[in-house]
Amino acid sequence: MSVFTITLLGTGSPLPDQHRAGPSTLVQAAGENYLIDAGRGVLMRLMAAGVAANQLTAVLITHLHSDHITDLNDVITSQWISIFEPTPLRIVGPPGIRSVVGHIIESLGPDISYRIAHHQDLNDEPLLVIEEVESGPVAHPGNVRITAAPTDHRPVEPSVAFRFDFEGVAVVVAGDTVPCADLDNLSAGAQALVHTAIRKDIIANIPIQRLQDTLDYHSSPEQAAQTAERAGIETLVLTHYVPAFPPGGGADWRALASEHFSGRVEVGDDLHRVEVAGFNSSTNTDQQGQ
Ligand SMILES: [Zn+2]
Ligand SMILES: [Zn+2]
Repeated sequence: MSVFTITLLGTGSPLPDQHRAGPSTLVQAAGENYLIDAGRGVLMRLMAAGVAANQLTAVLITHLHSDHITDLNDVITSQWISIFEPTPLRIVGPPGIRSVVGHIIESLGPDISYRIAHHQDLNDEPLLVIEEVESGPVAHPGNVRITAAPTDHRPVEPSVAFRFDFEGVAVVVAGDTVPCADLDNLSAGAQALVHTAIRKDIIANIPIQRLQDTLDYHSSPEQAAQTAERAGIETLVLTHYVPAFPPGGGADWRALASEHFSGRVEVGDDLHRVEVAGFNSSTNTDQQGQ
């Protein structure tokens, strides 16, 4: 039986794509729902995965690049208006997240005042608990143990990855990063690693400087695979595909990673789901249609 379910909600990147929502991943265990990053279209995909905004245990943000937070305002508003007992939305992220969320709330000021004025039973602004983390345990009321560690996405600083532990099984979700010792240490002995990647072999040959600028602060599929291999991971899940492959594609991404990693490599479209089982049982996957 699986302990964790990982669902790639959005496998896209900053570049709008008709088939791919922005970066966002759902990690489920112990009946709890953890949303990691909140890219473009996140709530549409979350609904498709069977989870509503008011069912999120916590929202965890890896870094403050726009593609990873652009729909955080939608998560905040949708949780607020669809919950009937005052229940805080817990948002965890690197230092700076508190200020960004403060600005989001400020930008939602007119909407918040309209709704409070219009709904008799809505009297308070969105109730938020915000936690800034760089490394170490993440405090939250759920049963899944969460640990943060810094990643290396410089000059984007700080950026963090999250490890989820439950019943002896561990899943790590990294945002954008180049290989680094902190991510190696966080991932050591985990069963699955979700890692963003860009095809440096392709991008290096596109004569657009703004694209080439992205080469030095992301990992390639090969580098993500090497990280997974060093950490003894069983299943590497690649996401954040640049350039995106057509729906149903990605065999070339899997092949590149497999040259450097002895475990299973998962790539897929939005809503691709990976089940992570406990010891002595296999990892199953399920490709869902869109
Ligand atoms: Zn980034
Ligand atoms: Zn990104």
